[in-house]
Amino acid sequence: MPSVFVQGRPVDAYPRLAPEARNGKVRRITEVGEEVLHKPCRDVTEFGPDLAALIDDMFLTMYIADGAGLAANQVGVDLRLFVYDCPDDDGVRHVGHIVNPVLEPLETAHRRLLDEAEGCLSVPGATRDVPRPDRAVVRGFDRDGEPVVIEGTGYFARCLAHEADHCEGRLYLDRLAQRERKDALRQMADRRDEVYARRAANIEALSG
Ligand code: ZN
Repeated sequence: MPSVFVQGRPVDAYPRLAPEARNGKVRRITEVGEEVLHKPCRDVTEFGPDLAALIDDMFLTMYIADGAGLAANQVGVDLRLFVYDCPDDDGVRHVGHIVNPVLEPLETAHRRLLDEAEGCLSVPGATRDVPRPDRAVVRGFDRDGEPVVIEGTGYFARCLAHEADHCEGRLYLDRLAQRERKDALRQMADRRDEVYARRAANIEALSG
């Protein structure tokens, strides 16, 4: 079985970082509480160089923050798209971007929920167990407006569902009980500085 899928298709070889990141600029990552993260994003209607540049920036920003996925509102842009570079539970790496993503509803009968750890670059330093289906299918478009369908299992299914949530203005914290949510925010308060120091060091390493 191929070990890397790019835009849902198997490839023979792939660099450590998606090539998009080479052209990107690092953007500031928004944090829980900022309005842009808490309202549904707008559909992308213009497929052109601005969109491609945004995707480049999102890839680099995701790598700098050691993330597995990043939605546009996490860099302050209220458009429906996300990028990802994420392993599944079989050790397969999935890399790509998806514009105007729609998470396909799964029939309850075929749905198995996994209650596993999840974090978010916009809730720096916190992780909590969140129940998510073990399989996800997302339909959308690539940067050229061509339709794409991305399917994932295990941790990658979790990533797809998490990023699709972002596009709807929802954080994983919104899926937690009040007390769990408070614990996550307390954890963030404790570890936030550490996370930001690591991101700064990654930017340093990149430019040095
Ligand atoms: Zn997130």
